[in-house]
Amino acid sequence: MVLKIWLDGKLVDEADARVTVFDHGLLYGDGVFEGIRFYSGRVFRLEEHIGRLLDSARAILLKLPWSHEEVCTAVRQTIAANGLVDGYVRLVVTRGAGGLGLNPYLCKTPTMFIIASSITLYPEEHYTNGLSLVTCSTRRPTPGALSPQVKSLNYLNNVMAKVEALKAGAMEGVMLNEQGYVAECTGDNIFIIKRGKILTPRISDGALDGITRGVIFELAEQLGIPMEEATMTRYDLYTSEECFLTGTAAEVIPVVAIDERPIGDGKVGETVRRVLEAFRNLTQTTGTPVEGA
Ligand code: PMP
Repeated sequence: MVLKIWLDGKLVDEADARVTVFDHGLLYGDGVFEGIRFYSGRVFRLEEHIGRLLDSARAILLKLPWSHEEVCTAVRQTIAANGLVDGYVRLVVTRGAGGLGLNPYLCKTPTMFIIASSITLYPEEHYTNGLSLVTCSTRRPTPGALSPQVKSLNYLNNVMAKVEALKAGAMEGVMLNEQGYVAECTGDNIFIIKRGKILTPRISDGALDGITRGVIFELAEQLGIPMEEATMTRYDLYTSEECFLTGTAAEVIPVVAIDERPIGDGKVGETVRRVLEAFRNLTQTTGTPVEGA
């Protein structure tokens, strides 16, 4: 199947979806992106994702020539043009074409493209049996460098941490901040359950303000499970009763071991199962319709 890509306002065949080698997104990682899911013909938390994209763009002085509403419509149009019902959207905005120098003001217009396709991050068996994680030595950048809240095209730090995890035989790795506190994983937020309470690292400890993370706060309230942010160390992970990760691509996935310590009894716990089920139910019953785009 030939994918239709949304590129600067037009839907083009994937072979024609080209970006110049002078694009600063490519030359300097100067740009921002989003990953969005759609389920059963409805886009999950579309407005929130585009809100975060615009915030990331504002933070790096990247002025988009499209409004929040126009970007939302473009996402729905791209999904509709590909006749897809379930899948994943990658939306990228770059600084645009410029010269061979950092100066972003020499880039006249940003480039935006939207790919609607599918994604399989982890094999299905891990949703049933859980993941094993390792801690990476690569640290989450400090807010004194680029804010961890900007979902920029500079993911090399996370890529290097992911390489460490993969080389250690784990599919995902825990990233600590410069102080040694748990921040998140390379592409997912992390949660533990301790004495019946769900805990997740604070945004100020270097966690991305994940859209799925926000959904977990809502679900915890609905399920009557206490939940709060906490500064945590690896000790807190090792001694937790249950653990899970969240992300747009990963959804909700249980964790059963970290750095070779079994979590709880080393099996997927009851609370994680409840959260996973509630999450799947929500994704199937809510969202912005693709139809009518
Ligand atoms: N942390 C990082 C570093 C990420 O890249 C992502 C998702 N791409 C997440 C957490 C999860 O965020 P969300 O739930 O918004 O996908």
